[in-house]
Amino acid sequence: MTSMPWVDAEVARVGRLFADGRLAHALLVGGPSGLGKRVFAEQLAQRILCRDPRDGLACGECRDCRAFQNRYQLDELETAPDGSLAHPDGHPGHPDARFIGFAWKLKPKPKAMRKELVIDQIRELSEWFYKSSHNGGAKIALIRPAELLNANAANALLKTLEEPQPGRFLMLIADRPERLAITLRSRCQRFSPRPPSRDDALAWLASQGHAGETAQSALDLADGLPLRAISYIEDDVIALQEAVRRDLGNAATGKQAPFSLAKEWMADRPTLRLELAVALVRNLGRKKLAAGKTPSDLTARVDFPKLAAWADRANRARSLFDTSIRHELLIGELLLDWRVAFSESSGQAA
Ligand SMILES: [Zn+2]
Repeated sequence: MTSMPWVDAEVARVGRLFADGRLAHALLVGGPSGLGKRVFAEQLAQRILCRDPRDGLACGECRDCRAFQNRYQLDELETAPDGSLAHPDGHPGHPDARFIGFAWKLKPKPKAMRKELVIDQIRELSEWFYKSSHNGGAKIALIRPAELLNANAANALLKTLEEPQPGRFLMLIADRPERLAITLRSRCQRFSPRPPSRDDALAWLASQGHAGETAQSALDLADGLPLRAISYIEDDVIALQEAVRRDLGNAATGKQAPFSLAKEWMADRPTLRLELAVALVRNLGRKKLAAGKTPSDLTARVDFPKLAAWADRANRARSLFDTSIRHELLIGELLLDWRVAFSESSGQAA
């Protein structure tokens, strides 16, 4: 696995808590996607199971480390395609580590991946926790995405947390930890890697073969999160950002009708476009703060409170894409409001 210094630092710190017997039984690893939470949780789990940790990190060579690394990744399928929820015996990986993610639905056919974590998975986990570990050491379960535990599963998990057992560790990994039930959250110790400084992030991106202006733009767009920056570079999101900037300019001046733009946005990565639009507003705000005046690249005069409110709505619209409402209409109305915001605040736009 590629070394990520900002992740390693937190693994070493939390690993020391474990060595001192001060690590809580339930850990919440929360924060934006692209921070390295999954890598952090996996490395910490390996560090806890490792027989011979070095410099606060797993050695990568002992039998436990080798067993841990010999497994499916957490974002690959967690369950057998026949729909069984448990790892079948002989599943590659460390016998004292378990990964809980989306499982397959048995019915109706054709088989489909569930969109939430269900109670059977938590019951099975509790039973597994009760059995003794293979090497007499700790047992660790990683749950991701924890915010998608459904209500029954969350209640079952709460029971497990209320009766902690020695040497059993649970890691809840969530992009949106605030969506977890407060009863669960309050029982967890919170950890997360801290994002690297801009210079460190750029150095790391360079070490991954991404340098120059592209890396810088991607990192800015990714809010300083290096893994997200890499996915932006790989998906050519910088070009898409330019398109969104141009479209918003055209919508503001009335050069293009909001609902015809909405059609175009719907045809190609609509939620990402909304995300980029929000990032654009955020960057406008930052530049304004830095310059002490309104920047001139998008508009001559901008009403920032109004734009901030618009960005909030765009964010909400993005989350509505999980539901079955009429998305094109939603984006159309949003772009109409964008135009209205400009005509009201300045009556002109560059
Ligand atoms: Zn090891």
